[in-house]
Amino acid sequence: MTISNNLKRICEDVRMAAENAGRNGEDITIVAVSKRFPASSIKEAIDAGQTVFGENYIQEAEDKIAELGPAATFHFIGHLQSNKAKTAARLFEYIETIDRFKLAKVLNNHLETLNKKIKILVQVNIGNDPNKSGVTEEGAEQLLRDIQHLKKLLPVGLMTMPPLTSSPEESRPYFRKLRNLSERLDKLNLFTAGSKPELSMGMSADYRIAIEEGATIIRVGTAIFGTRS
Ligand SMILES: *Cc1c(COP(=O)(O)O)cnc(C)c1O
Repeated sequence: MTISNNLKRICEDVRMAAENAGRNGEDITIVAVSKRFPASSIKEAIDAGQTVFGENYIQEAEDKIAELGPAATFHFIGHLQSNKAKTAARLFEYIETIDRFKLAKVLNNHLETLNKKIKILVQVNIGNDPNKSGVTEEGAEQLLRDIQHLKKLLPVGLMTMPPLTSSPEESRPYFRKLRNLSERLDKLNLFTAGSKPELSMGMSADYRIAIEEGATIIRVGTAIFGTRS
C-alpha cells in the first residue's frame, strides 16, 4: 500500500466512524505520525493532501522541517526535555505533551522571546501506567491552574496514551475517562475560551474507538507510513 492509498482509506474510515457516532468527520484532525520516517515520506503525504504531522524527537523534527519548508504543520507528541523547549517553541504549532509546570514555564519564556503563542495539550496518564508519562487526573487540574498566567501557552485540551492492551476495545474506558475529565475541567474554565476542548487520543490500532468516545485529534503513524524500523 502507498502512503497516498493509506491516507485515503483512513480519511474515509474516520468519516464513517464519526458518522456512526453522530459526529462530523471534519471535527477530527488526523495527525500523521512521521517519527522515524524520512522527509520524503512526509512529502509523499503532503502531495496526497495531508498537512498535519506528529513528531517525537526534536533533532529529527528540526532536520525534517528544515528540509520540507512551510508546507506542513507539526505537533510535538514525544517527551519534551526543558533543554529542548527553545527549539520546540520555534518548530511546533501544538505541543501535546505538557506534563509539568517547570517545562511549561521554560517554554513560555522562550515563546515570549519569539513573540509567539502555541497551543498546548496536557498529557494525562489516564491509566496510571508506570511506563507512561503524564499527570494524574488531579494533577491535570493543578497544572492547568498553574499555567493560567503563562500568556504564550494556549491550553486547548488533553492528550493521552492508554496502557498497551491486546484489543482496541480495551482502550475505550480510558478514552471515556479522558473525555469525562476534560468536560469537568472545561466547566472550571481551565481551557482557552472559544471552543470545546481538544481530546487527542487514539492511534493506528484504536482510533475508531477513540472517535466514538469523542477524540478530536487522532495520532496515526503505522497505518499511514507502515511499520517503523
Ligand atoms: C508513535 C506514536 C503514535 C503513533 O502510533 P501508531 O501506532 O504507529 O499509529 C501516536 N502517539 C504517540 C504519542 C506516539 O509516540
